[in-house]
Amino acid sequence: MLKIDMHTHIIPEKLPRFAEKFGYGDFIHLVHHRPGFANMMKGDKFFREIEANCWDPKLRITEYANFNTQVQVVCTIPVMFSYWAKPADTLELSKFLNDDIAQTVNDHPKNYIGLATVPMQDTKLAIQELERSKEIGLVGIQIGSNINDLNLNEEQFFPIFEACQDLGMALFVHPWNMMGFKAIERYWLPWLVSMPAETSRAICSLIFGGVLERLPNLRCNFAHAGGSFLPTIGRVEHGFNCRPDLVAIDNNVNPKNYLGKFWVDCITHDPVMLEYILKTVGTDKVTLGSDYPFPLGDLEIGAFIEEMDLPKETVDAIFCDNTLDWLNLSKDQFL
Ligand SMILES: [Zn+2]
Repeated sequence: MLKIDMHTHIIPEKLPRFAEKFGYGDFIHLVHHRPGFANMMKGDKFFREIEANCWDPKLRITEYANFNTQVQVVCTIPVMFSYWAKPADTLELSKFLNDDIAQTVNDHPKNYIGLATVPMQDTKLAIQELERSKEIGLVGIQIGSNINDLNLNEEQFFPIFEACQDLGMALFVHPWNMMGFKAIERYWLPWLVSMPAETSRAICSLIFGGVLERLPNLRCNFAHAGGSFLPTIGRVEHGFNCRPDLVAIDNNVNPKNYLGKFWVDCITHDPVMLEYILKTVGTDKVTLGSDYPFPLGDLEIGAFIEEMDLPKETVDAIFCDNTLDWLNLSKDQFL
């Protein structure tokens, strides 16, 4: 059986010192301080230690073989988005990251599928890099749950989503730049509390702002099973019904109408929650994701799903078919 992990992160082994090159900013750089490990540095500040499986495509293929997973959809680590920088500089950084991912896909076409990053803070440059990404063989883009604190329904982003739809590029929305970060830093709460809220913020913005309504063929997938959106859909719908003056001002379609129109990954770490997610969005809209190689991810790549009592068709759909649908790819190219 073909198994595709659609939520994984990768970074080039060597990054230019963009902060020195551009003369400002806390751009990420890597310090390879011991064999097989590197420190990600944000300016002078330590961000996190990563291992070679964050940059070495061959090592990753070997590790994935332990979990019978042949294909990885790779995208950058959200801290690399750098939407805060001057647009031309984010474009240059994005090109560097996208070229690296394209190279990985090109070297191992049966093992890798690539998603790009684009300078979302500049509509024109984002579309330019979106088009180029398609030309170099990437099949979609990963974007943040907000862009420099702006919600995704802001008009400036609409042409980018429209271009995604027109070009047939898929969209993967990943939480980052987490709300309330400073106030709740203790206990890792930005990752445990804000990240799921960020993803719900992104879905609600795209629904209530009418983006999904205006772009019915935009293929969106939301990280971490849609964060807190699906578990709170009853509340979201009730808010829409009881305060339309606040909620339904830009789109009068009930938010529940969008269930089954977008994809979410399966990263719930919880069989009961996954069953609920499958019921809520449909068995054809949940995709195998892991968040590899990071510790908060499901690093056994869906093992908990195999242990659940799901019909074989559902497992096959999650592990393979639904991701191929989302990315509009055919199975043959990986066999
Ligand atoms: Zn992730």
